[in-house]
Amino acid sequence: MKRERVIIIGSGPAGMAAALYTARADLKPVVIVGNQLGGQAAITHEIENYPGFKSISGPELIENMKEHAEHFGAEFVFDMVESVDFTSGSPFTVKTYQQTYLADAVIVTIGADPRKLNIPGEKEGIGKGVSYCGTCDGFFFRGKDIVVVGGGDTAVSEAIFLTRFAKSVTLVHRRDTLRAGVPLQKRFFENEKIRTIWNSTVEEIGKDAAGIVNSVRLKHLVTGEVTTMPTEGVFVFIGHDPNSPVFGDQIALNDDGYVITDARYHTSVEGVFAAGEIQDQLWRQVATSVGQGTGAAMSAIHWLDERADALQKLDAPAAVAGD
Ligand code: NDP
Repeated sequence: MKRERVIIIGSGPAGMAAALYTARADLKPVVIVGNQLGGQAAITHEIENYPGFKSISGPELIENMKEHAEHFGAEFVFDMVESVDFTSGSPFTVKTYQQTYLADAVIVTIGADPRKLNIPGEKEGIGKGVSYCGTCDGFFFRGKDIVVVGGGDTAVSEAIFLTRFAKSVTLVHRRDTLRAGVPLQKRFFENEKIRTIWNSTVEEIGKDAAGIVNSVRLKHLVTGEVTTMPTEGVFVFIGHDPNSPVFGDQIALNDDGYVITDARYHTSVEGVFAAGEIQDQLWRQVATSVGQGTGAAMSAIHWLDERADALQKLDAPAAVAGD
């Protein structure tokens, strides 16, 4: 078993910031990367709202963050957490596929994953026309007619991005107004390659004999009318689900599965902290995640310092009367 001062679970912007701050505090943090270095930011084509960068690609920003944290002594381990045991307090057990760690403090920054539609044809269509990442897969849809599902910032910005490749993009939204911010909406409605189908849901994704996506079955939620529309790709951007199942009943989660923290990022377990999209259902920005990761790291540093003082006092010889 490897004993560490701080284990950071997850390597998105929150984990990167936590790694930098704990590394600069000389705690030699170990970052368990997860299945994607940098999390969702790493698969974002262009980031225009991280202060100091008018425009930077997600992979470049993440690489910069990693190098920065490594420069001060953070170690990145390309592994996944299988289970944790927080029940007996610090040191905590963190079991990955390759190693079991004991950690004095843990910072959870494991993020959230794209939500699925859970409709027939979706699962089988992954890699054959169904995608959750425009940056990753847009290139494969050059000259094709595709569908985007969702009405938030992600769906709208990805729909715009996908027009670089696709012949046409049809956005299917379950309401008649978009949730996305106004500046994005302006660019969306001005784009001649995009059209919108309102008040509708995708009920099923159809495929050809080779299993390649070739249509969607749509239901109009006002009239109830069901239609089939040919398409060569379906991109789903309908929000995210937190990656909290690995924590089971070890820390308190809210009804949606997000980790509950106080304002200083303490979870329900003393010595375990959480930051970024695993605990923030609302903002979900690179900038806010970085701030939260920083806060969680500073809380962890203070907590470890206070604990070291307390342990030192316990170890100190009892004062003799007259000293
Ligand atoms: P959101 O939760 O904001 O939007 C999800 C969209 O999907 C909504 O329009 C919702 O519909 C729709 N939806 C949800 N479930 C279903 C379903 N089962 N079937 C059909 N449609 C469904 O998620 P986003 O990923 O878009 O954004 C998350 C956060 O990240 C937001 O805070 C956003 O502002 C932020 N963000 C910011 C960006 C930026 O550039 N500033 C870029 C990307 C994200 P309905 O509207 O009816 O609820």
